[in-house]
Amino acid sequence: MSKVLVLPGDGIGQEIVAQALKVVEYLNANDNLNMELVHGLVGGTAYDETGSPLPQATIDAANECDSILLGAVGGYQWEALERDLRPERGLLGLRAEMDLFSNLRPAILYPQLASASTLKGEVVSGLDLMIVRELVSGIYFGQPRGIEQKDGERFGFNSATYTESEIRRIGHSAFKIAQKRNKRVCSVDKANVLEVCELWREVMEEVAKDYPDVELSHMYVDNAAMQLVRAPKQFDVMVTSNLFGDVLSDCAAMLTGSIGMLPSASLNKDGFGMYEPIHGSAPDIAGQDIANPLATILSVSMMLRYSLDQVSLADKIDSAVNMVLDQGYRTADIASDGDTVIGTNQMGDLVVKALQG
Ligand code: NAD
Repeated sequence: MSKVLVLPGDGIGQEIVAQALKVVEYLNANDNLNMELVHGLVGGTAYDETGSPLPQATIDAANECDSILLGAVGGYQWEALERDLRPERGLLGLRAEMDLFSNLRPAILYPQLASASTLKGEVVSGLDLMIVRELVSGIYFGQPRGIEQKDGERFGFNSATYTESEIRRIGHSAFKIAQKRNKRVCSVDKANVLEVCELWREVMEEVAKDYPDVELSHMYVDNAAMQLVRAPKQFDVMVTSNLFGDVLSDCAAMLTGSIGMLPSASLNKDGFGMYEPIHGSAPDIAGQDIANPLATILSVSMMLRYSLDQVSLADKIDSAVNMVLDQGYRTADIASDGDTVIGTNQMGDLVVKALQG
């Protein structure tokens, strides 16, 4: 029995999570998934109901669960709030509270959607890479930071910091994932310029000794950005720091051309994970039954694969999604000429139907 905290959040969050729950309910009823669902609040919706984007009740519930399924947070109506009350603080707070240091962002191009990419078909078709990004340290968190006066002008500064243990744990995370994939890790840094990256590279080499079955290579971040758009299929697992990972993972996601298709996971050292689509709350299309729920459905698949040890059910969800795409059904964001355009709800129903075989 696993216990999962469900946090739909804001905007399209409610609609897309509802479709993912149809899949969970089907697998509970027919495939002994045994997933207990606990419901909670986060983001702007939580602020409206409780005055906080991350109520204590949500943190308590997360601590009692094995994983979190999140929709998305954010919306125009909360943008004027002071920084600590904004919906995004709920998300960042959860990451910090649960120490979710390892962010997994797969970039998979479904062959049925090859025309959605801005790159040539032969460059991206069959693309399947995983970016492992360090999520709770590095320049986004390093001290000192600030904007001060110096020599009669303003002076802004941040600190790119990593301890050896922070590098080591994200390294282990990446190597373990590579063992389940094609056994290649490319560590991305800027060791030719930054001391913090010199340490990063040294520690990655040390970690690699524990994984003789996995091949480690290194690449400077500027080259990695170039290679991602030139020949992305050369990569299996990329591991990198918070800042570089932020940029490279968005670039990798866009290679696939379909933001509504990609799930993500953020894991802590115990395998506890928060699973969510990579896209935001899309307030421009919320409540219209047009959002693509597949990234959220695939987030459930990732949860089963990486936190709940239910790999065959994860495979089953992935196959069901593929089957629906094979049948030519698309939500508007991924539709091309000749496809059958359907809404959010119908997409959820069709995935459940495909699960039935
Ligand atoms: P967004 O990802 O919400 O939307 C970008 C564009 O993609 C929009 O045109 C939207 O309609 C479209 N889109 C996104 N998801 C889609 C889906 N499932 N199906 C079809 N189309 C989809 O990014 P944004 O517009 O920059 O941000 C909107 C809000 O989301 C902001 O408040 C932002 O802070 C928040 N946000 C939250 C997260 C998160 O919860 N993890 C991530 C990014 C942005």
